[in-house]
Amino acid sequence: MTDPTAESERGAVLVSAPRPIDSGLKGVCPRCGAPTLFAGPIRFADRCRACGLDFSTFNVGDGPAAFLTLILGTIVVILAITVELTLHPPLWLHMLIWIPVTLVGVVASLRLAKGWLIALEYRNAAREGRIEPR
Ligand SMILES: [Zn+2]
Repeated sequence: MTDPTAESERGAVLVSAPRPIDSGLKGVCPRCGAPTLFAGPIRFADRCRACGLDFSTFNVGDGPAAFLTLILGTIVVILAITVELTLHPPLWLHMLIWIPVTLVGVVASLRLAKGWLIALEYRNAAREGRIEPR
């Protein structure tokens, strides 16, 4: 059996690691597959409680937040306009529907995107660009 914690010389993970999408969907550690990636709904844990991988060394940035908020905002507005034009509900019902849908959608999609990106960053040993001294 392959050691799930084995890494290549460059720090990239070998074959037995979980799929990157599983880190987003299930919140599993990109190295060992234990469900330890998140300490809150969208906040990463400091490190994996099973294998010790330090999640604080990864930086997925704010890219997912801006991108997903724009996509989700577009979808929610289209759905709200469609509901308004077909069913004509009162304004309070729109607010009762679309505010929770938006909040849940943002948290769920952020969790998925952040987990996926941290797993890809780990798998590809991605780091910030640096200029090596001569
Ligand atoms: Zn782990």
